[in-house]
Parts: sequence; structure tokens; C-alpha cells
Amino acid sequence: MNKQAIIVGAGPCGLSAAIELENVGITCTIIERGNIVDAIYRYPTHQTFFSSANLLEIGDVPFICKELKPRRQDALVYYREVVTRKGLDVKPFETVERVEKSDGKFLVTSRHERHGVSVREADYVILATGYYGRPRKLDVPGEELPHVSHYFEEAHPYYRQHVTVIGGKNSAVDAAIELEKAGAYVTVLYRGSEYSPSVKPWVLPTFDSLVRHEKVRMEFNATIERIDLDEVVYRQNGEEKRVHTDHVLAMTGYQPDHNLFAEAGIEIDEDTGVPSFDEETYETNVENLFIAGVVAAGNDANKIFIENGRFHGRAIAQALTDRVRI
Ligand code: FAD
Ligand code: NAP
Repeated sequence: MNKQAIIVGAGPCGLSAAIELENVGITCTIIERGNIVDAIYRYPTHQTFFSSANLLEIGDVPFICKELKPRRQDALVYYREVVTRKGLDVKPFETVERVEKSDGKFLVTSRHERHGVSVREADYVILATGYYGRPRKLDVPGEELPHVSHYFEEAHPYYRQHVTVIGGKNSAVDAAIELEKAGAYVTVLYRGSEYSPSVKPWVLPTFDSLVRHEKVRMEFNATIERIDLDEVVYRQNGEEKRVHTDHVLAMTGYQPDHNLFAEAGIEIDEDTGVPSFDEETYETNVENLFIAGVVAAGNDANKIFIENGRFHGRAIAQALTDRVRI
């Protein structure tokens, strides 16, 4: 009888996995908390990818776009087109709450806000839940205040506002550049002692020029102590300092939510956040339960991207076909 798989998460890597499994005759249902590619939908509005369009392609569907590097909107159009063309079965706005094994099969429980709970059965489950839904917290007093956000949408609301950006990698640097352009007064507080090597090399000169021309204030070795209503208090080289602020953008990255994984029996390395899995097949320590996409990198957001995570599904499909042949 035809085998059934459930993919949790309709990000680029979950969608790619569904296409690859369908290609080898496994019927897939994709359950998604938002709608397809929800993380990309939630990127900054004017985000340009660092990858060229061809490196974001899935399912051998060409990603044609005017510029070499697509923008967020181009990618949303592209992935919608892929799902339509491939006829993928996506269940949007359902959050998977539990994956459990019963008599060799999986029972996957999900909740839709209006339609309530569904339980589906599957032979295989692939967890491709990404990380963008869960910001990495600073864990300092004041982080929950309403003028603090872990997501940057666009710069307009910050015109002539004092904005403190926390962090020193790509989200922080991109936000600071866009904010300065829109007339915000920007201070970047970064715990590192120099620019991070993760900042894209073609972006850094623009940012550094703003710093050198004192259009953006850059503070290295800055450890955040607390956030008050009108200022951020930080420690720098042993000294307590303050910066006046109207808004705080904590661009401190994102971390996968491992609750589903742990409940399903997947072992997680406490230090790295990396789930236990076979690097060739992406099968976890639970038989027939796989992972795909950035979740395979644990807490390190700078290791797996769409560029390489999009191939995980092909490896899983290969492993499952090899298994049938044997
Ligand atoms: P995601 O895209 O995060 O998808 C996971 C999906 O799972 C989400 O849609 C989420 O809603 C869903 N989900 C989570 N939990 C549940 C649940 N319990 N039930 C149901 N659904 C659930 N990468 C590149 O290769 N090139 C780039 O240029 C690039 N630019 C980037 C720019 C920005 C601003 C950011 C933040 C990231 C960028 N990345 C880029 C990284 C890229 O976005 C991620 O690597 C990619 O989204 C990972 O794909 P994924 O399918 O593993 O996870
Ligand atoms: P990130 O790469 O995880 O960087 C987080 C930053 O916050 C780092 O500088 C980190 O410091 C700092 N930080 C983390 N925890 C902190 C804490 N408790 N206190 C103070 N500072 C803390 O996150 P990101 O920049 O949001 O990037 C996430 C992903 O999106 C990456 O894959 C990135 O490549 C991608 N992205 C791509 C683009 C693009 O395509 N143009 C743009 C933005 C983001 P350290 O440096 O010391 O670790």
C-alpha cells in the first residue's frame, strides 16, 4: 500500500522534502502553522536575499527574477508558484502539537484556531520547523516592554526616533543601514569586540562607512544590563553606560523550538541544540522520524540555509527508496 508522510512546516526545506518524497511515490501532507514560507513572509519587508535566485530553487522549478538576488516578494511569488505547480497538499494555519508513535505508525496531532484538533496517521514524519518563530532572548529586565521587538519590518515608523539595535550580525547591520536611510538616530550595541565575520562582505563597507561618518553610533564590547522606558543600560569595559532610546530592536537571532522533538523522543545535544540524526539520511534516533532544513543545525543559524537545507529532502527520499529495495 502507498506510504504516507507528514511534513511539519511549509518552509522552503519542508516544501522541498515533500516534492522529493512525492517523486518517489510517497504521499505527503504538509502541516503549517501559518501559510507557506511563513518565515520569509515575516522577513523585513524590503529584504534582499544574499543568495542568487537559482540557489533558492526547489523541485527543479526555475526561479526567474529580474535581479541576480531576489527580494522577499519575489521569493513569496516563487514558492507559491512551486506549491501550485506541484499540487502539494498543505494544511495551513494548523499548529502541530504532538508527534507520537503507536504500533509502528505516527499519530500527528495539530490544532487549527477555528476548526480545533485533528489527528492524522503517517508512516513517516519529517520535522522541518525552522527557527524564525522563536527569538533568542536577551534575558534582561525590560525585554518585555512594548517598545522592544525581536523583528524588524521596515524603517518608516522610526523616522526621527532614537533606535537602539542590539546584535552584530546580518539582521542588526541590515536594520541599522535601512533605519539610518529613513532618518532614524541609530545606536548599535554589540557584545563582540570587532565586526563579526558573519556579516556579508558586500554589506559591511556600507555599514562601516556610516559608522566612520558618525551617522550610526557603533558600540563594541557592550553587554546589555537592562532596558528602561527611555534608555538602554549596558556595560562596556567594566563601566555602566546608558543610551537614550525610543525603540529597541533586539536582533539577537532565533532558536529552534525543541518541544515537539523532545516529546517525540528525539535526543537533543544540550550544548549545541543539535538533534540526534544520521547525517546521510536525516533520520533521527526515532525510526522513520526525520528532520530537514535549519533545525539540523541546532542553535547555529549560520550553518544551514535554504541553499543547502533544500537538499535534505532528496537525501531522505533516497534513504527511503533504498530501504524498500533492500
Ligand atoms: P523555515 O523557513 O523557518 O520554515 C519552518 C516552517 O515551519 C515555518 O513556516 C513555520 O511556521 C513552521 N512551523 C514551525 N513550527 C510549527 C508547528 N509546530 N506546526 C506547524 N508548522 C510549524 N537563507 C538563504 O539560503 N539565503 C538567503 O539569502 C537568506 N536570507 C535570509 C534573510 C533573513 C532576514 C533571514 C531571517 C533568513 C535568511 N535566510 C537565507 C535563512 C533562511 O530563511 C532559512 O534558512 C530558511 O527559512 C530555513 O528553511 P526551513 O524550511 O528549514 O525553515
Ligand atoms: P544571528 O546570526 O544569530 O546573530 C545574532 C546576533 O545577536 C549576533 O551578533 C550575536 O552575538 C548577538 N546575540 C545573540 N545573543 C545575544 C545576547 N544574549 N546578548 C547580546 N547579543 C546577543 O541572527 P541574525 O542576524 O538575525 O541572522 C539569522 C539568520 O538570518 C542567519 O542565517 C543570517 O544569515 C540570516 N540573515 C540573512 C540576511 C540576508 O540575506 N541579507 C539578513 C539577515 C539575516 P555574537 O556575534 O557574539 O554571536
